[in-house]
Amino acid sequence: MVYDILIIGGGPAGLTAATYARRAGKSVLVLEKNAFGGQITWSPKVENFPGFVSVSGTELGDKLLEQAMEQGAEVELDEVLSVRAEESGVKTAVCESGAEFQGRALIIAVGARPRMLGLPREEELVGSGVCFCAVCDGAFYKGKDVAVNGGGNSALQDALLLSEKCSRVYLIHRRDSFRGEIKLVEALRERENVEFVLNASVTELLGENELTAIAVEQEGVRREIAVAGLFVAIGHAPDNGRYAALLDLDKAGYAAAGEDCLTKSAGVFVAGDCRTKSVRQLTTAAADGSVAALAACRWLDA
Ligand code: NAP
Repeated sequence: MVYDILIIGGGPAGLTAATYARRAGKSVLVLEKNAFGGQITWSPKVENFPGFVSVSGTELGDKLLEQAMEQGAEVELDEVLSVRAEESGVKTAVCESGAEFQGRALIIAVGARPRMLGLPREEELVGSGVCFCAVCDGAFYKGKDVAVNGGGNSALQDALLLSEKCSRVYLIHRRDSFRGEIKLVEALRERENVEFVLNASVTELLGENELTAIAVEQEGVRREIAVAGLFVAIGHAPDNGRYAALLDLDKAGYAAAGEDCLTKSAGVFVAGDCRTKSVRQLTTAAADGSVAALAACRWLDA
């Protein structure tokens, strides 16, 4: 079957696109490699999505999925490895399972993945002390000392969540002011088991087979902090490389697109965090999803 619109990515952008495209009467398949809801599934609490005073990221992700499926969107859990543009104009997504899916129009809404610090042994210690998601892995560190590195909303939220279950949380940030919301910083300042380690960078990961401590450089002074876990929350990077033939990528790897989310390739749209834009938020991802879907519908009807 050739779908009207193939959507890669089941986060807020992709699922909103699916809902809009279905309501415009198009057949839609959403391909997601991991968890529907995308990055928000890592957020314990979302308090800035219109209409939701406070909701967990997984609950919001579930609702977005339910809404898209209720409208008749089809969904598939499979990782897209590459996309081929056929001579007919149809786009073919080649997936890890070996399956291939086709759409006349394509919306790429693949978000971004967590950035790493680039320290020796960081990759080797992922899952053995180095983590990227407090919601997913926090429970493993109950009663232990941990560190969070970063100064954005993710780091602040991770530190808050971890402070509820860990004995001590070191919040390490390379500056003395935060990119994240002041409200979260204030909440952290009230927690007795949270220590701010500012103007500081993690420089070494210590421990044999698992992390036992980190070395931090703070204003020129080296300090070792014993921790069982380091939660790296220093932002995200796009994962657009596998679609590079269809897209114009900027220096950081984000995909260029017009106001209508259209890329340089006919019938190929990008939505959400994977595209070049100044504000990457849940709301802007959802907004992109609706814009991309309606633009794709217009393109199909033309
Ligand atoms: P972010 O806002 O880009 O923050 C990244 C943080 O990491 C910054 O404080 C940055 O420091 C620091 N950093 C970057 N590279 C570093 C390095 N190499 N070494 C040490 N520190 C480094 O990323 P985010 O926190 O993942 O958030 C991404 C977006 O999602 C944001 O727009 C955020 O507001 C949103 N978000 C929303 C919610 C929600 O509840 N609605 C939850 C989580 C995230 P500098 O400040 O010095 O650059």
